[in-house]
Amino acid sequence: MAQIIEEAKKRLFLEMLLLGLAFLMLIAVGFWYLVFRPQHQLYQTITTIMGSLLFIVIIFLGLGIIGTVYAIIKGHTFPFLQNSIRFAVYLLYPMAIYVGKMLDIEKEAVERSFIAVNNQLVKAKVKGIPPQNILILTPHCLQKSDCPHKITVNAWNCKQCGRCSINGLLDLSCKYGVQVAVVTGGTLARIMIKKMRPKAIVAVACERDLTAGIQDAYPIPVLGVLNMRPEGPCMNTSVNLDLVEEKILELVQPLAAASGKR
Ligand code: SF4
Repeated sequence: MAQIIEEAKKRLFLEMLLLGLAFLMLIAVGFWYLVFRPQHQLYQTITTIMGSLLFIVIIFLGLGIIGTVYAIIKGHTFPFLQNSIRFAVYLLYPMAIYVGKMLDIEKEAVERSFIAVNNQLVKAKVKGIPPQNILILTPHCLQKSDCPHKITVNAWNCKQCGRCSINGLLDLSCKYGVQVAVVTGGTLARIMIKKMRPKAIVAVACERDLTAGIQDAYPIPVLGVLNMRPEGPCMNTSVNLDLVEEKILELVQPLAAASGKR
């Protein structure tokens, strides 16, 4: 069941991209219509150049979408398609959100789908990362709001009383030797990434922060895990620790994870 939901999630974002691609094709066809209409030589040259450029972009994008679907189905990517995939998935993300909005699809649903697609691409591409080069990056809203300890300065200031998910994340850090940072927002996240210099990140956040963080952190690969918000956004949130552990293992043992031998 979880697998079916996961597939449906990935499909939504790809569908938005395909619709966006179809829209670009319509514009390209419009340009070519203008090319073959009798008109001034200068306009004909301009429309020919623009129509040709647009078709090249569409082919590039189409290859990126094919590469993404292949990575989702087969669990690995073709290195020569990396640029097309990046262009299609990450740079066209705003277009996918826009298409979703036109179709009255909830923005968070498209964001969740983007995160699922990104996770699959990272899983397909990233090979065994040493645990000490993995950073668990998490927002401070995971901390109990009445906890007096300043864990954004140093996550290890947490006394591990067990009242919030920070406790479990530190346990995972001890178990696997990965780093942990608790941040108050994008700026501190960037500072921590610069300071800790991870080769891969397991990020915990809401849909909006995860999609922004995944794009901000590029070229560092990020596996996203959505937080849970029983008391609403940004307040006493929590995270499924099994999912975080699964993502760490995917980065440490990607070949085994990709081939289903775990
Ligand atoms: S586990 Fe306890 S001490 Fe640590 S951050 Fe959460 S509430 Fe504070």
